[in-house]
Amino acid sequence: TATSDVILRTERVSKQFGKFTALKDITAEFRRGAITSIIGPNGAGKSTYFNLLSGAFPPTSGQVEFEGRDVTGLPQHKFAHMGVAKSFQITNVFPQLSTHENIRVALQALSSRYNIWTPRTSYKDLVVQADELLHRVGLWSRRGRLAGTLAHGEQRALEIGMALASHPRLLLLDEPTAGMSPEETRVMMDLIVQLAQERTVILVEHKMKLVMGISDRLLVLHHGELLAEGTPADIRRNETVKRVYLGQ
Ligand code: ADP
Ligand code: MG
Repeated sequence: TATSDVILRTERVSKQFGKFTALKDITAEFRRGAITSIIGPNGAGKSTYFNLLSGAFPPTSGQVEFEGRDVTGLPQHKFAHMGVAKSFQITNVFPQLSTHENIRVALQALSSRYNIWTPRTSYKDLVVQADELLHRVGLWSRRGRLAGTLAHGEQRALEIGMALASHPRLLLLDEPTAGMSPEETRVMMDLIVQLAQERTVILVEHKMKLVMGISDRLLVLHHGELLAEGTPADIRRNETVKRVYLGQ
């Protein structure tokens, strides 16, 4: 059916912070297996929308649906349990632990919450899984390094590795290339494309050009409203979008 192509959707979601409306009546769909990017200038409401999509907080009004089910207001861990993982705009690794240990912490946090690891699950299994995740995010050669000593781009990749520990079907990334050099940015974009081969990805980014080439769909937010939605080609020729980005 048509709905099974949609992994996540929002129906007229709004978010108020006191009297301030950060998001207003956003109705949108996210297709399974696609890379959908949420773009817009700083302050447009991207992170607020990201937080609604990942269950960090509920909308003031409207509805969030995951796989056809109303999940509005469900606690964060329920989103995680459904297969939603995210990384934040701000780096969030344990600086005093090694790269490998950071991944193991993420795997073990899951074990206690979901009983994925039984007491019989060996330390070796855990190490093997951590190794595999480190390979996946390109950090194998850094496994013994303290996370705090990694380059910024590597810390972001580590964070994504930690998010992958739960085998998410949906990966949400908020400005994963923030503060990165051009080279780090290129490596991160390659990683995102690679990860998207196995799961749905929703990406928040304020630099439109960066995500144009890799996105299947784009949502453009501006002053808390959905300004435009479509393929990169649709967005590129949208006059209103051009105006908003030129006016920055
Ligand atoms: P973006 O990620 O697109 O830069 P945000 O979603 O972070 O934008 O913010 C959108 C607007 O909502 C901004 O004007 C911001 O100041 C405001 N805002 C975001 N979070 C809060 C909050 N917790 N309390 C009050 N205002 C907020
Ligand atoms: Mg933001």
